[in-house]
Amino acid sequence: MADAYPTCPRCNSLDLESALSLRTDSGPQSDTHTRWVRCRGCDARYIVEIEEDVNIGHDTDGHVTNSARSCDPTEWDRTVALARRCPHPSDPECRCTAHAVAPTTLSAAWYRSW
Ligand SMILES: [Zn+2]
Ligand SMILES: [Zn+2]
Repeated sequence: MADAYPTCPRCNSLDLESALSLRTDSGPQSDTHTRWVRCRGCDARYIVEIEEDVNIGHDTDGHVTNSARSCDPTEWDRTVALARRCPHPSDPECRCTAHAVAPTTLSAAWYRSW
């Protein structure tokens, strides 16, 4: 299902680099992560919300949704710096600034699920 993976809507590159992610929610069925992504092709910045099924067997892939919004580079740099200081990136209960305040984004960039 490689064609389900996101590409950069600005330059079509598949070369999207994940700088960092924080787990923002954890439920009995799924985990939610916020991921800071940057395109190596055109340097566009995105904030990606990933929701992933948990509770699945070893040989089945869980359902994943991956939705991104574009982000101003200044805002992206500012918020990724905050997120790097998060003491508990995988703890949705963390109360650090990065966990408490979502980055300001511009417009929807892509939505995928697989
Ligand atoms: Zn790009
Ligand atoms: Zn945190």
